[in-house]
Amino acid sequence: MSNTISSVLRLKCPKCRQGDLFCNKKTYQYKGFFDMPKKCPKCGQDFQIETGFYYGAMYVSYAITIALIVAVFTALVVFNLFSIELFLLLDFIVLLVALPYVFKVSRSIWIALMIKYDPKAIEKYERKT
Ligand SMILES: [Zn+2]
Repeated sequence: MSNTISSVLRLKCPKCRQGDLFCNKKTYQYKGFFDMPKKCPKCGQDFQIETGFYYGAMYVSYAITIALIVAVFTALVVFNLFSIELFLLLDFIVLLVALPYVFKVSRSIWIALMIKYDPKAIEKYERKT
């Protein structure tokens, strides 16, 4: 389970957990930000499973965004600092900083829900090619 989570957070291929899901590994570099390879360079897993496959990842990113807002709210209440201005300001900052990663990790979560881990994936792929 912890391996699944770590591979999801590191934006790795869900099948082999070694290939990268995104061409551009720098979260805060805009150029080529959305680009994903057509398939995993290590195990050949298809990353463009079907047209519109990643629309579902939007729901994941909504969920993460809401979780972040709730976390900001809770932190302010716990530290007795709550004011609506501060809440909105912090939300803005947190979301601005987190959004590129949230976008990528949502896709990573989404594809990991659909594709099962196969410890022999790379071996099999190499035998085929
Ligand atoms: Zn792979």
